[in-house]
Amino acid sequence: MNYSDEEILEIFKKTEALLEGHFLLTSGRHSNVYFQCAKVLQYPKYNELLSSIIASYFNTFEIDTVIAPAIGGIVVGQEVARQLNKKFIFAEREDKTLTLRRGFSIKEGEKVLVCEDVVTTGGSVFEVIDIVKSHNAIVQGVGFIVDRSNGKVNFGFPQMSTMKIDAISFPAEECELCKKGLQLVKPGSKKIPH
Ligand SMILES: [Zn+2]
Repeated sequence: MNYSDEEILEIFKKTEALLEGHFLLTSGRHSNVYFQCAKVLQYPKYNELLSSIIASYFNTFEIDTVIAPAIGGIVVGQEVARQLNKKFIFAEREDKTLTLRRGFSIKEGEKVLVCEDVVTTGGSVFEVIDIVKSHNAIVQGVGFIVDRSNGKVNFGFPQMSTMKIDAISFPAEECELCKKGLQLVKPGSKKIPH
């Protein structure tokens, strides 16, 4: 199945994963867009649909194993692996460093697809790529649901996202949306009065 950008965008809006307006981010900056991937992935049918776009893209690639960084990447990686009928493992933080635990291992020469939910700077994915390389295994590609990097992140392997979200953000004191008098909203809580 092929899905248009509009159809995918509609799913993100319908599930309130993507909100448009005037938001206070945890960084303190103000943005015109708020995005919470877990809001869409809480519905298995949408995870199945979005992951199918990644799975079909990498369908012709030789892959032994799908790996994802915890936590956000796990539901996506698991579903992509299920659809490709491959093994799935995840890396999790131990003393701030992503590592393989729970008896997970990667063999030399193993062909690995890296999955993630959202890529902003790509830090977690780069860490997982390093784990794969450290086992002398082969990264075949990187698939993720949303690219929030404004096209800046290049992992150096075939990569694809189901959607790109370009957000504008401002330091609070220079916010164009404040200047327009738009009400500021802190996502997940009540509206903040001016
Ligand atoms: Zn503002």
